Amino acid sequence: MKRYQMFIDGKWCDASNGASFPSLNPATEDEWALIPDATADDVDRAVRAAHRAFETGPWSRMSPTERGKALFRIAEAILPHAEHLGRTETTDTGKLLRETAWQANNVAEIYRYYGGLADKVHGEIAPTGPNAPLSMVVREPLGVIAAIVPWNSQLQLAAFKIAPALAAGNTIVVKASEDASAALLEFTKAIEAAGLPEGVFNIVTGGARPCGETLVTHPLVRRVSFTGGVDTARKIIPATAGNLARLSLELGGKSPVIVYKDADIDNAVNGATAAIFGASGQSCGAGSRLMVQSPVYDEMVGRMVERAKRIRIGDPLDEETDMGPLATVAQRDRIERLLGESVSQGAELLCGGGRPAAFNRGYYFEPTIVACRNQDFPIVRNELFGPVLSVLKFDEEEEAIAMARDSEYGFAGGVFSTDFAKAYRTARAIPAGRVWINTYRVTSMMVPFGGFKQSGYGREAGIDAIRDYTDTKGLFVDLSGQVADPFVMR
Ligand code: NAD
Repeated sequence: MKRYQMFIDGKWCDASNGASFPSLNPATEDEWALIPDATADDVDRAVRAAHRAFETGPWSRMSPTERGKALFRIAEAILPHAEHLGRTETTDTGKLLRETAWQANNVAEIYRYYGGLADKVHGEIAPTGPNAPLSMVVREPLGVIAAIVPWNSQLQLAAFKIAPALAAGNTIVVKASEDASAALLEFTKAIEAAGLPEGVFNIVTGGARPCGETLVTHPLVRRVSFTGGVDTARKIIPATAGNLARLSLELGGKSPVIVYKDADIDNAVNGATAAIFGASGQSCGAGSRLMVQSPVYDEMVGRMVERAKRIRIGDPLDEETDMGPLATVAQRDRIERLLGESVSQGAELLCGGGRPAAFNRGYYFEPTIVACRNQDFPIVRNELFGPVLSVLKFDEEEEAIAMARDSEYGFAGGVFSTDFAKAYRTARAIPAGRVWINTYRVTSMMVPFGGFKQSGYGREAGIDAIRDYTDTKGLFVDLSGQVADPFVMR
């Protein structure tokens, strides 16, 4: 079994009390790695190291160009190990190797992107007039950032926090997910190879308590950048009342995909299949509510079922596999419970619905499509984070939009139509941080993502992300040399 260590203040270490917990391979259910279970003292040490590094430099005081170069070095150190990083993430989460390996290469690009932006965060001169003090707006880093990530796409999601935070001159403590920490710990070797000053980057591992809670409540943390579930977010919001850390919350979704009768059905089938069965549906942007206009309902749904039945389920390390297992047994249990409740309330199972017979181990679950006559079923209301698609029928555009809007979540959405004006109208009407027209799941580090409503607040990716890791400072400089006596009125 592989033994991992955390990275605090520039050194690899175990938990101070020696505790660790096993990480499971969801394709085999075997324990394959041991992860340190950080104590409150370990987390405190990591935050203090990050604080010392921020206060004493050189990181926060170095020229942004030099910081940018350090991020380029991180990117260079990732690339030779991208395949290994992908393999590690796949072993830990069951996500397909071809996707995790691609993502690891893409993660290097994210560090390059923010490395390039490090010296492009300009301040401003306010137009107060030639006789007023020189009035400037400069941007300063915040201090210690706490970055908390879930188990899915951990390298990529963490990169969208680490890269802009470091580029802006902050220091950071990352908390990996207790369900899958190994890939981020492997990635930390790239940080080490890039030669960042001690304490600038720290990573701790463990669960909600004590690791997560100690981190978000720590008095020296200035921002908590969280990605995970809404229930966890509801605990973190009050937990930061003490340190007043600013918050960004990237949460779950229940995203609608609308298919109009004039859609190119081939495209719509490919897009809707990617939306829900890509990454076994374990994606914040999963398109889990498919709404189809009545004239093409039978054709579209029939083809979705036919496509779902052809999905090759199997070992996520195998290049031939389309869909790997779910990441945890808890995930599978929850999906089975909500699906069972929905079917007993009258939802109609069109395909899948259970564990594939071919596997006697691993948290596999069949691609599942369920017809729902309305949105009142548990599988339509709740984020399942799995390969379960609810399909609904509509007649008019207004009805589709009303159904799409009728959700507590607002992470993403999709529209398929050859009538661009209608597709555009619909996309604008979906309250979500990201909407695709005639495609789904494509992404770019240059385009921000994040939620509306209970999918959270704050945005990641894109140029503005680096500014979000800074604060403005108004700076007034007297140029006259004639500062008046404040008690003499002129
Ligand atoms: P989770 O909320 O259970 O855990 C996320 C992280 O929070 C973990 O590291 C966990 O240890 C930590 N945590 C839990 N309780 C905590 C507490 N009280 N204080 C501090 N930290 C705490 O989520 P998960 O099951 O790991 O991930 C799945 C969820 O993440 C889904 O809801 C999914 O939609 C969401 N997600 C969102 C995005 C996005 O970009 N919006 C991306 C991926 C996943």
